[in-house]
Amino acid sequence: MSLAVMGLLGAYQYTSDLSDLSERTRSMEMLLAERLAQHDAHLSGLGAVVRMSPDEPSPSIQGLAENIITRYPRITDIATISIGSGTVRAVSYGRAMGPEIIDLQPILDLTGLEKTGDTSARPATTPHAYEIFKLVAPKRLLRLRIDTDALLDMGDEGAQYSSMLSLNHTVLFEKNGGTDALLTASNTLDTSNHSQPLHLMVSRGFRLNELCPPQLAFPLLAGLAAITWLIMRYRHASRERQSQERRAMLFEQEAKLAQAGRVNAIGEMASGIAHELAQPIAAILSQSQAAKRALAIKRPDILESAIDANIRDARRAGDILSRMRAYVSGAPARIEEISLTEAITDALRLVEADLAQRGIALAVTMSDNVGTGHVDVISFQQVLHNLVRNAADAVADRQNPNITVDVLRQGNEVLIVVADNGPGIEPSSLDRIFDPFFTTKTEGMGLGLPLSARLLEKMNGSIEACNDGGARFTIHLPTGMLP
Ligand code: ADP
Repeated sequence: MSLAVMGLLGAYQYTSDLSDLSERTRSMEMLLAERLAQHDAHLSGLGAVVRMSPDEPSPSIQGLAENIITRYPRITDIATISIGSGTVRAVSYGRAMGPEIIDLQPILDLTGLEKTGDTSARPATTPHAYEIFKLVAPKRLLRLRIDTDALLDMGDEGAQYSSMLSLNHTVLFEKNGGTDALLTASNTLDTSNHSQPLHLMVSRGFRLNELCPPQLAFPLLAGLAAITWLIMRYRHASRERQSQERRAMLFEQEAKLAQAGRVNAIGEMASGIAHELAQPIAAILSQSQAAKRALAIKRPDILESAIDANIRDARRAGDILSRMRAYVSGAPARIEEISLTEAITDALRLVEADLAQRGIALAVTMSDNVGTGHVDVISFQQVLHNLVRNAADAVADRQNPNITVDVLRQGNEVLIVVADNGPGIEPSSLDRIFDPFFTTKTEGMGLGLPLSARLLEKMNGSIEACNDGGARFTIHLPTGMLP
């Protein structure tokens, strides 16, 4: 991105400098045209005087030449050349000490100077100069020597421009405006003057710091960085807003689902309760009618057994209701840090007598590092009680019925594994046994396991079931401190 901006900046600077170069070339073209025309004018003026001065050296030519050289310092020499039969006589004019006969070596080449008025420009024998020859009269020539440095002098501005002046492919003048350029642009022009067909090339080199001036590049880059930062902030903020909206939408959907789930669960539960209570209530009704009849026929024995049955069924109904209340209760667990070994021993003590009476063996093993756990003691004991009671139901018809309870520590949890040597859980029922009212027992309520799972959840624990010979239930509880 910054490179692109630097590139744009450079391109802009380059284009604007290119137009400066064109401007410079145009100025040089105009200046050259004007100066070359002056040379032509001087040649014409001098030619007229030469034609009027048959004898040389001539004071008239000297006067005019002196005047021209003083006023136009780029004209460094004015000479006349007279060609005799086999001789060439040249006189140099314009010098302060007066005209001087000079030696013209090598022998003058008169190509292109056939008739009076013909001109020819050639590179001079001295560097940075060229000479214009004009046949001003038969066998009489005029010669102006032009200093190219002075010819192209445009004042001291334009140090950054290079220029090269050539005549007939000979370089007369060369100025270099800088070497460490990154880019160079050139303009060329051929003068429209026939007597002096000069070729000029003006060029401009561009250094990196010219194309991308730091005083422009830095504020621009800083501005760009600020804009980029703002865009990124804006994008981040809008992404954040979108994800918040999505989250809010999801929450709303979840809340609606949970509400629908609750309504569903209440419906299921209500029908479950009705179903469960229907049986003891119907029994109480028929037993109460039997009791009434027994009273009429004065049969206290039948009356007593009917009342006993009523008491049993009323207790069962009460039991169903209290378990339901425990299951749906939103009351938080009363969590305390206790020794799990003690809590488990106490819970098992409550069932030991019943198991012994039914001839069921109970084997308990606890590893030494069980330590403490954060539990609600009453709920925890109720869970253990449910599991052992279910295991006892499962092994009731087995030979050598036995239940094992293994307590061990695993990382940050304590595992309590209750296993039995019963028939195991029916594979098709495995994923339903924690559903309320799911039971395979004729007298079952299907509330023991869901209630246990709910109570453990409140203690940040969990329970899972599998078959391993018989059934095997594993309670996971987070540990407290190490023993
Ligand atoms: P209930 O004991 O009243 O049936 P539970 O929720 O405690 O209700 O148990 C649900 C069902 O899970 C039982 O009816 C039984 O099918 C199955 N189950 C529970 N424990 C065992 C076990 N130890 N062995 C085999 N099946 C079991």
